[in-house]
Amino acid sequence: MARINDHYQKLAAGYLFPEIGRRVGAFQSANPKADVIRLGIGDVVLPLAASVRQAMHDAVDEMAEASGFKGYGPERGYGFLREAIARHDYGDRGVEIDPNEIFVSDGSKCDSGNIQEIFAEDATLAIPDPVYPVYVDTNVMAGRTGPAGANGRYAGIQYLPCTEASGFLPSLPTRPVDLVYLCSPNNPTGAVASKAELEKWVAWARANGAILLFDAAYERFITDPDLPRSIFEIPGARECAIEFRSYSKTAGFTGIRCAFVVIPKELMGRNGRGEAVSVASLWDRRTSTKFNGVSYPVQRAAEAIYSEAGRKEIQANIDYYMANAAIIRAGLSKAGFTTFGGVNAPYVWMKTPNGLDSWQFFDALLAKANVVGTPGSGFGSCGEGYLRLSAFGFSAKVEEAVGRIVQHFA
Ligand SMILES: *Cc1c(COP(=O)(O)O)cnc(C)c1O
Repeated sequence: MARINDHYQKLAAGYLFPEIGRRVGAFQSANPKADVIRLGIGDVVLPLAASVRQAMHDAVDEMAEASGFKGYGPERGYGFLREAIARHDYGDRGVEIDPNEIFVSDGSKCDSGNIQEIFAEDATLAIPDPVYPVYVDTNVMAGRTGPAGANGRYAGIQYLPCTEASGFLPSLPTRPVDLVYLCSPNNPTGAVASKAELEKWVAWARANGAILLFDAAYERFITDPDLPRSIFEIPGARECAIEFRSYSKTAGFTGIRCAFVVIPKELMGRNGRGEAVSVASLWDRRTSTKFNGVSYPVQRAAEAIYSEAGRKEIQANIDYYMANAAIIRAGLSKAGFTTFGGVNAPYVWMKTPNGLDSWQFFDALLAKANVVGTPGSGFGSCGEGYLRLSAFGFSAKVEEAVGRIVQHFA
């Protein structure tokens, strides 16, 4: 038998969402008549925007003619999309990003999971708790941690607790590290870092020679105009940060697949001899070796969200989801539950009632209200005692789910 990567066996209890799927599946086969409402996994439900659909159709038609056929595209993305990103996502907000600093990909899960590959095997890490599980798990797989302890925390990671007392924002590491993962607006808590908060991080990273890995998958859901959408709105971030963005939640692309990474040219890492090396050059090398680019119709579809019509259409979808978040927050708090988030992010972070732990409340919610949430403990030990409710649903269903939660648990 071939030797396997032993680090995989350190991974605790499998990925969160398959476990939820298993429990929901078991409940449904035992209760085939139950009308289960899923506010668990963060997946969009609204159909593609008209501009996106048209752009994809047009791109397919173009490729079906000899004159417009495209084979392999540039690994890091077509210029038309990188230029649209630089201009609209950044330039329009006063942030200067060169199209050559942008790498288009098929998803932020892959990007935020793969980025660790270009850093040393013994690079040190700080990761918020709770947070999107991909950051921790991919570093476990790469062998940067020891085994998991009883609370699910891996030896060797510096966890940054995000608790009610800190407004669910991580505090600065107490020891220097090479890499810090940040996710704002946060999945799962819905907390968003202010400008002052990010300035603190940039200053810390620069003083400690660390790189911030900034996941901004939910930046479009920010409603407060004073909150930063990008780490690059903070002066000095170009020397210490990488940003991840995705069209998945922004434009309903979870099934289409398109995202991008921004790595400024100033960003340097250190090799074994202590010499400075461009981080973008390593990511470029990795991308051109392991990736053959996102399909042309998908990149044209992504470009379409920057047109005037496209922008309005995707904003209408975001508004729809944020109205759901408001329904969840208002309904639950009126009934006496403690909730956080849901204002600048499509997630509501709910304190479990009656002292139940996250999985106990998950099971009770499923059994009594036939509603699926996501147990907070699945995002890290500091998520224990919370449940994440997603605003990605049809509003009638969201309203009904809230009514059932109130009916059974208030
Ligand atoms: C959904 C999500 C992503 C996006 O992943 P894709 O692979 O682009 O679909 C990235 N980061 C976080 C925190 C997410 O919740």
